[in-house]
Amino acid sequence: MTENFQDHQIRDAIKINYKYTMGGQSKFFIEVMKNKKLFGTKCTKCGKTWMPPRINCSDCYEPADWVELNQTGIIQVSTIVWYTTSAFIKAIPYGIGFIKLDGAETALFQGIFSENLVPSKIKKGKRVKAVFNKEREGKMTDFFFVPEDEYENWISKPEYEGGV
Ligand SMILES: [Zn+2]
Repeated sequence: MTENFQDHQIRDAIKINYKYTMGGQSKFFIEVMKNKKLFGTKCTKCGKTWMPPRINCSDCYEPADWVELNQTGIIQVSTIVWYTTSAFIKAIPYGIGFIKLDGAETALFQGIFSENLVPSKIKKGKRVKAVFNKEREGKMTDFFFVPEDEYENWISKPEYEGGV
């Protein structure tokens, strides 16, 4: 390479069509999409209830059965997001956190929205309830959690609805 080398660059884009599978955890996404239900799994040996679902128990490795869980739970830890990817840029600021659904023994990492987002609204120990998008695609973004005292307001919005 000489000192006079000049790199010629052209900007372009690559469009890629692809699909991927949720494998053994497909039921979780199908139930969210079609029925607005949250399914976890319960170990057939030790009885631990997993959310997010585990097809095999992560403690004893035995198979787990699907169980419908409550759509209410408690925030274990949370934060407010100010920097995010292009997919969520319109939503900032929003909360995220680990939520332990009533009846589950593990916590789900999910968005927590509030009409008045301040740290005290989404702090540890606050009760939350799931709200579903009316238009669902079978993705984690099909639902989110809101403080229980805001639930009725959220499901009265045209783009959202409550679970079953
Ligand atoms: Zn187990």
